[in-house]
Amino acid sequence: MQVYTKTSAKSSVVHIGLDDTDSTRGKCTTHAAYRITDYLLNHKFSEFVDYPLLIRLNPNIPWKTRGNGAVCLRFRTAYHEDVLDRLMDLVDHERLVASGANPGIAVYCGESIPPSIQSFARKALYDVVSRKMAEELAKRHQIRFFIDGNGQGLVGSIAAIGTLLQEDHTFEAVAYRKQEKCGTLRKLDSAQVVQYDTETFPYTFNNYDRSHHRVLILPHGPDPVFCGIRGESAEIVVSALRKLQISEKLEGHMVFRTNQGTNQHLQNEMGFADIKCYTAGFSQCRVDSRPTVIEGGHAIFSVRDPVGAVVNAAVYEPTDLVNIAAKLEVGDVIKIGFGVRKPSSKHLRILNVEYLQVLETKEIFETVNPICLTCNKRMKSEGMNKGFRCHKCGSRNKDAKKILILKPRMIETRLFVPTPRAHRHLTKPVHRYGMEKSLRSTSAITLCPAWFSKT
Ligand SMILES: [Zn+2]
Repeated sequence: MQVYTKTSAKSSVVHIGLDDTDSTRGKCTTHAAYRITDYLLNHKFSEFVDYPLLIRLNPNIPWKTRGNGAVCLRFRTAYHEDVLDRLMDLVDHERLVASGANPGIAVYCGESIPPSIQSFARKALYDVVSRKMAEELAKRHQIRFFIDGNGQGLVGSIAAIGTLLQEDHTFEAVAYRKQEKCGTLRKLDSAQVVQYDTETFPYTFNNYDRSHHRVLILPHGPDPVFCGIRGESAEIVVSALRKLQISEKLEGHMVFRTNQGTNQHLQNEMGFADIKCYTAGFSQCRVDSRPTVIEGGHAIFSVRDPVGAVVNAAVYEPTDLVNIAAKLEVGDVIKIGFGVRKPSSKHLRILNVEYLQVLETKEIFETVNPICLTCNKRMKSEGMNKGFRCHKCGSRNKDAKKILILKPRMIETRLFVPTPRAHRHLTKPVHRYGMEKSLRSTSAITLCPAWFSKT
């Protein structure tokens, strides 16, 4: 039995950041966080001051793990030295870290998070941050850390600690499988998913893609996640999870507070003159060339920012937005959220469009021949500057001119977002616009009793 000694008379908040503990062999960062939380809750010396945070970082980083998710656990304890020693044992003993991964586990103790760690975290959402920067922060703020592999996991673990998520956020209840079930088929009646989706939408979302008849809550890999239900509060995601009759005996569930479904990576306005590869942001710009639909069904066009810098943009086929993008005309004013793709030998630097908002459409005219005043039919041109002749009655009009007709624009001035099956974790579903929420302070959080369970 472990004996705990108070390291100081005063308790303080411990912030544990975890990143990249998953690999292809069926481990998962959120599951490592689940096991650590289970340990902390079992030893009643710690009180969680926030839900575990699941932070999706810049999705355009090519060396990311699947989903680029990092987790932060925040709890108050008077025994932090002991807790940390035990934590390291746990990480080691339970093999929470998969071989082949580049894990990072970081621990910071303090009542509040220093501003430099917070700004590092903000940058990690839309930009490329280096491991060196993370190491410097760790040194400056006495952050204890454990890294393995190439050490890249340190970036995510410190970024998770630095993200307070006081702005818009959502929740996800993640249900975990027992180890012996990992790698087997997940069995769930899709009718049950459709039913709770009907009952709880828009307070839960991305459950079921009705246009493609696909269940969205089940992952497909060998990882220990059985399903994940996303929504606007801890209570609603847990109640939706409880509505499912899952025949398989599960390990339990945990609720995360998360930046999923918030577009948090697209809050940074960018000009096109000096954009860097792998960054993300948004721009209000003008269409500079008419879209062409290329092989594979993707639409490519160029856009011009307010200072005149031009860059190519691509709308990809799986987003179901190509039909919309293809109707854009030169001069249309649009707002786009995008990630910047690296140039290759085949393609120049290009913006991968993540949402498209049509703000202003340019008037487009088509020219038609004038109408015969006698029989109301369109006349035919007699040739350059030779006027027009009616084929029906034969009358001529030398002075008639071609007429400009305003062409109806078959595009609405509104927001278009990708279809749910093309959503990335951070993609804000269209129904969430106007549902954004914020916290005044993290001390205002009261955890719902059912946020954690173990069966
Ligand atoms: Zn006529």
